[in-house]
Amino acid sequence: MQECVFCQIVEGKIPSHKIYEDSMFLVFLDISPVNPGHALVIPKAHYPDLPATPDEVLSGLAVTLKKVAAAIMKAMGVQGFNVTVNNGSVAGQVVEHVHFHVIPRLANDGQDIWHGKSYAEGEGAAVAACPSPPASWR
Ligand code: 5GP
Ligand code: ZN
Repeated sequence: MQECVFCQIVEGKIPSHKIYEDSMFLVFLDISPVNPGHALVIPKAHYPDLPATPDEVLSGLAVTLKKVAAAIMKAMGVQGFNVTVNNGSVAGQVVEHVHFHVIPRLANDGQDIWHGKSYAEGEGAAVAACPSPPASWR
């Protein structure tokens, strides 16, 4: 089986433009940036997606993301950024090694975000009452 692309980047088998690294996490430039400075924040250990990632690793990813996003904003001279996690192929996940996208945003940069729909009468209440989320989350 083909080894994970991001694991190969961690191991140095595939070159990348690294912008941050510590013992647990790596941040490198996306090869196909939405805007210059678009970076991917990953744990060095392989977890296929967000639900499979242990809480303590996710916490560290979030802290790393916060730190790096601030540096990217300063370096790229932008005032905002999007954070995206594509989870599952239906959501656009292509590389099955958990990662956060940090995408610098400029005014009128031509990028769009998703378009909201609206709930039909009573639909919001029905969705909110959906039994799937554990009661402890409410
Ligand atoms: P996903 O759709 O899985 O959330 O996004 C994967 C991202 O990884 C894509 O934006 C893609 O451009 C990036 N990517 C895929 N292969 C490579 C690679 O070999 N090097 C780098 N730097 N980025 C990659
Ligand atoms: Zn991997």
